[in-house]
Amino acid sequence: MNRSYDVLIIGGGPAGLSTAFVCHKQGLSYLVLESGKAIFQGIANTYPQGKLVYPSKPKDAPEPFLVEELRPPDKPVTVESYLQYVQHFVQHENLNVQTEVSFEDIRDERDGLTVITSKGNFKGKKVVLSFGSNIPRELSVYGDATMVAKNVDDPTKYIGVKTLVIGGGNTAADVVIAILKAKREQNDDQPVYWAHKSETFDVNKETAQRLGEEILLGGNIRLLQGATPRIGEVDDEGVDRLVIRMNEFKQADGIDLYHALSFPMKNVIACIGSQGPVPIFNKLGVQTITCTSGVCTIAKEGERLVLLTAEFESTRKGVYVIGGAISPSFMKIAAGSIQEEKHPNLIYTAVNDASHVVDAIKKSLGR
Ligand SMILES: Cc1cc2nc3c(=O)[nH]c(=O)nc-3n(C[C@H](O)[C@H](O)[C@H](O)COP(=O)(O)OP(=O)(O)OC[C@H]3O[C@@H](n4cnc5c(N)ncnc54)[C@H](O)[C@@H]3O)c2cc1C
Repeated sequence: MNRSYDVLIIGGGPAGLSTAFVCHKQGLSYLVLESGKAIFQGIANTYPQGKLVYPSKPKDAPEPFLVEELRPPDKPVTVESYLQYVQHFVQHENLNVQTEVSFEDIRDERDGLTVITSKGNFKGKKVVLSFGSNIPRELSVYGDATMVAKNVDDPTKYIGVKTLVIGGGNTAADVVIAILKAKREQNDDQPVYWAHKSETFDVNKETAQRLGEEILLGGNIRLLQGATPRIGEVDDEGVDRLVIRMNEFKQADGIDLYHALSFPMKNVIACIGSQGPVPIFNKLGVQTITCTSGVCTIAKEGERLVLLTAEFESTRKGVYVIGGAISPSFMKIAAGSIQEEKHPNLIYTAVNDASHVVDAIKKSLGR
């Protein structure tokens, strides 16, 4: 760990990059830490191919887009063109971004905050959490499984190896199809194992059709139904492996029999869905409040909403949360009361939060 930044920004989507750009313009030092291969990875992962990106703005929102540079054009363009535009913009402005760095935790220090990531620790005076609303679920196994990939950028990476895809839905199916196709095109006969904890897979008709076509064209697939990831371990050769268990046979004498397969973790992709950011807030000690009937009109009863000041600062001093991570609503502390605040999940909201949060940080740093 070397230098300390004014602002460490977690996530390089519309909220994080707008924060970076505003910091850049206002003379604050900053660093964006993005877990994906590239900026806007959240959008690249979730928008369907060819989807048009709209510069949507809630009808009752008084402000214009406060960071014009990241505003999608009035005449909607495809997600691919928008992503390309943003890439050029980041290069042109020379924004300070590190990709493939996954945020894990924050530690308080005497002179600021330390952000703990998969690629080491970073120091900052303030931290802006802008990791969006789609946090991929982690495999819950005994031992460590953090090396397991959660999506596939380059299916050719799996050529020549037996690959395991975990998950029973469309995303897992798409990953299976992409790897089968890459393997088939390179005449690779190593199979793709597709594991799901239930007996049946749950994919839509169109995906099932594409999968069927891939199998008919020679795709080598092995289905593992009723298979549960159980243990992350390191073998005698120092290789991180994931053990999945199948076919459990309960014995009367209390000794259970089962079959298990063990895969090098680098050959495993887990597509087991996503979750909201509440588990991360809990881990960070950022306070959330449970909605009760009559208190919330947007969130449902029982849902937990993060508690923020009007400047987006959380109950953890110096830690701010903006963008999709606090949509569709959060609990706002203002004028001595706490109220649910509507916060639509839009690029507009993410971008404008960024502008407000940098103003607040600047003030708090006395600049
Ligand atoms: C299918 C679809 C279509 C949409 N269409 C529109 C539209 O047309 N117009 C519109 O205004 N809005 C649209 N939206 C909503 C819009 O995309 C979101 O409001 C916006 O992306 C939120 O920005 P964000 O920066 O808060 O989060 P994201 O865009 O989700 O960015 C968060 C970033 O953080 C990264 N990240 C996550 N976890 C970590 C971690 N642990 N460490 C480091 N980085 C991490 C992610 O990889 C991601 O790049 C659409 C949403 C979807 C799903």
